Amino acid sequence: MQKERIALVTGGGRGIGKAIALELGRRGYSVAVNYSRSEKAAEEVVSQIQAMGCRSIALKADVSSAADVKDMFAEAASKLGPVEILVCNAGITRDNLLMRMKNEEWSDVISADLSSLFYCAKEALRPMLKARWGRIIAISSVTGIVGNPGQCNYSAAKAGMTGFIKSLAREVGSRGITANAVAPGYIETDMTSELPAEIKDAMLKNIPSGRIGTPSDVAKTVAFLASDDSEYIQGQVIAVDGGMTM
Ligand code: NDP
Repeated sequence: MQKERIALVTGGGRGIGKAIALELGRRGYSVAVNYSRSEKAAEEVVSQIQAMGCRSIALKADVSSAADVKDMFAEAASKLGPVEILVCNAGITRDNLLMRMKNEEWSDVISADLSSLFYCAKEALRPMLKARWGRIIAISSVTGIVGNPGQCNYSAAKAGMTGFIKSLAREVGSRGITANAVAPGYIETDMTSELPAEIKDAMLKNIPSGRIGTPSDVAKTVAFLASDDSEYIQGQVIAVDGGMTM
């Protein structure tokens, strides 16, 4: 790595976001760990990164709120410096068949999973343009590519993220900034722990790699996209799914 880069990971206290924050710490980055409810978990991730010899802070913000996101970026800039690597990982599911889906189940998922990318990328962009270097990485989902019954809201948000990333790549790609998405498949976290065993077994049968993914599988891909080595990868959606959707 050429210099100590500054990263911000939304939803970095738990699950995939935690693995990403720790992987970036392991590679020498300064990491701002965002959380909305899991303060203790986020503080624990911060301690682990600091123990690796890197700077790290926890930042409370609801990323579905433009005002919270604005304050979060201001705090990150004052405590660590301008964010150079943005990882939009925070996300929720509110599954229901479309016929039964409540308006709030739609709007909560669109706000937390998609509008959050708009708010965060907009805040991150100006200093990146000034520095002529930046990495914007959105954690989408294979569901946004192939769909999933009961997830019209989530699939729309995740597909929206990839359309957003491609347009952004076209807007800023010539200015030293890359915008890419990672689309995890079936990864073992709190989000998937509630799935019934028969659905898990059915998904496993469709994974050529023969195993469920780990948060670390996703984190290593994100760390590569965050690095200088990925500079010519632009506007892509990289599936980390053991071949499930190839
Ligand atoms: P978890 O449910 O384990 O964690 C969700 C994370 O998002 C938590 O850190 C949570 O923080 C944060 N978060 C949720 N809402 C907000 C909000 N409004 N503001 C700030 N942070 C928020 O999920 P995973 O780790 O499994 O998923 C991480 C990402 O990966 C998500 O975007 C998800 O859609 C995506 N993904 C996951 C897959 C999987 O199989 N697990 C597959 C494909 C994609 P807090 O607890 O502080 O609220």
